[in-house]
Amino acid sequence: MDNKQRSFSAGYLIIAMLATWLFNDLVYKPFIIRETEVSYNVFLQDLKENKINEVILSGDRIVFTLKATENQKETAANVVAVTDPDLVDRLIASGVAFSAQAPTKSLLSTLLGWILPLLPLFLIWYFIFKRMGGGPSAMSLGKSKAHEISGEMIGIKFSDVGGVGEAEVELREIIEYLKNPGKFSKMGAKLPKGVLLAGSPGTGKTLLAKATAGEAEVPFFFLTGSSFVEMFVGVGAARVRDLFEQAQKKAPCIIFIDEIDAIGQARTSVAGIGGNSEQENTLNQLLAEMDGFAANSGVVIMAATNRPEILDAALIRPGRFDRQIQVNLPTEPGRLEILAIHTRSMPLGSDVNLERLAKITAGFSGAELANLANEAALLAIRQGTKTISMADFDLAIERVVAGLQRKTPLSDAIRSKVSYHEVGHALTAYYLPGTDPVHKISIIPTAKGALGYTMQMPEEDRYLIGENELKARIAVMLGGRAAELIIFQEASTGASNDLERATEMARRMITEFGMSLKLGPVRYANTTGTYLRSGVSGRDDLSPATILHIDQEIHRLLDEAQNTAKGILTEHIAVLHEVAQFLKEKEAISGDDLARIVTSMS
Ligand code: ADP
Ligand code: MG
Ligand code: ZN
Repeated sequence: MDNKQRSFSAGYLIIAMLATWLFNDLVYKPFIIRETEVSYNVFLQDLKENKINEVILSGDRIVFTLKATENQKETAANVVAVTDPDLVDRLIASGVAFSAQAPTKSLLSTLLGWILPLLPLFLIWYFIFKRMGGGPSAMSLGKSKAHEISGEMIGIKFSDVGGVGEAEVELREIIEYLKNPGKFSKMGAKLPKGVLLAGSPGTGKTLLAKATAGEAEVPFFFLTGSSFVEMFVGVGAARVRDLFEQAQKKAPCIIFIDEIDAIGQARTSVAGIGGNSEQENTLNQLLAEMDGFAANSGVVIMAATNRPEILDAALIRPGRFDRQIQVNLPTEPGRLEILAIHTRSMPLGSDVNLERLAKITAGFSGAELANLANEAALLAIRQGTKTISMADFDLAIERVVAGLQRKTPLSDAIRSKVSYHEVGHALTAYYLPGTDPVHKISIIPTAKGALGYTMQMPEEDRYLIGENELKARIAVMLGGRAAELIIFQEASTGASNDLERATEMARRMITEFGMSLKLGPVRYANTTGTYLRSGVSGRDDLSPATILHIDQEIHRLLDEAQNTAKGILTEHIAVLHEVAQFLKEKEAISGDDLARIVTSMS
């Protein structure tokens, strides 16, 4: 059940009541009855003092207007009549003009009097229901929320997606089939019923789906997995049924379910407290529907997920989502394409070199590259320049990598420690072969909570990494701690994240890559990549002796790496002091600065 949604409706109700009240008091009342209400003796007093201009007797009310005085215009008031047999005599005596009006109200004013105050309430009710189920009737809750969209409405084409070559080719083939099924059936070819786009977040899966819709000239149903899951039991399954009914009428067509993990999670793994049978029902219905139509019926179901490994095995069985399209992080040419797409409407300075940017952003996802271009534009706007310069992009990279820089200054002692720590990382990387070059060292705290950071930028995309390179990487991770141990004779809490990453890396070397002589070429990690911590997760079929050996080997790898770093830093201790001092003054230095200092000292 969705708590958020429930409090939403409660909020609406309160707003509705407030609105009704305000409406009555501020708009409605003054509009219909403009007079103020006074008591009978005020009326008698005014009558006696001859202030009254005219009186109208209307049923149980006396409506009267006061004469205009110097400080006041003519005003009106009314009073509830008391049973006063002398009233008419009094009025005659005072000489005021008076008349009577029939008390019967017109039909219109009765209607207005009843309906108008309730109108806001009805309107808001209507909108609440609309939010809940697409219309004011509760019957429509089971209707799917899929939007059938025509491609032109989205306006995204494959030309807006960069660096996904393989995936694009496969999707084009599916569109081709839907436009011209005859060509395929003549060859006896069948297309998969279900296509699953899998890949890490931000690689452009949703974007690809939208581009597919933009290119396909067939009906396209677009919805997210979470839109099946509702607060009413049974709604999810009903929505799936309705969706497939609609789609089959429109065939050939495409159904796209974004973030399918919301309904497609493995059924046992969601059974927490009491399980989530609603999600299970929805998933079962989806499986049944997918089985229910023939392979060449002209309905292709596409789905996207960040985590294909948590999907229920039944979903990826043949006959369902049997084709997986991997959407990978972009390679260098891909990054260049994506950068070009996202900067095509930006005024770039003449010094901007997108090739270089593509080179130094290894590991960036499409979303991060889009974010990078946007950050650079924002920086240029803040500086009031007309074009976006390469310096803006460089700063934007730092922001995307390290988070926004914080301005709170640190004490001198801490700055000194952080300087030595970061230079420890940087120098280990500088002297050890097989490590990525240092791009920047900084002791400006980041919004993400780091006191400083050393940024390394790979010079190329890595597909294969050797054992020695991995060892060097661990040494660099422990270089900060090594420097602290050498200079201050103690480690600090600042290295905890370094330790975590180094330990994880060492664990993978041993349990996944078979890089320990003692344990041999054996995989010890379980298949989903969670590593054994004696029965807590993953495999519990390892003997205690094996677990002990794994721990010992991790220990040995980390020890060796720390010694490597310590050795390098002790050997170049003069450089360590020099660079740390320089960094403490400057707060941030580039990889080029580092190289300059090192070469000048040797
Ligand atoms: P996913 O669904 O894989 O998590 P999205 O498709 O939502 O990622 O990507 C988010 C945004 O990042 C997109 O709207 C787009 O601006 C940008 N983006 C991601 N990948 C690409 C790409 N391959 N080409 C161009 N832009 C991309
Ligand atoms: Mg997405
Ligand atoms: Zn560190």
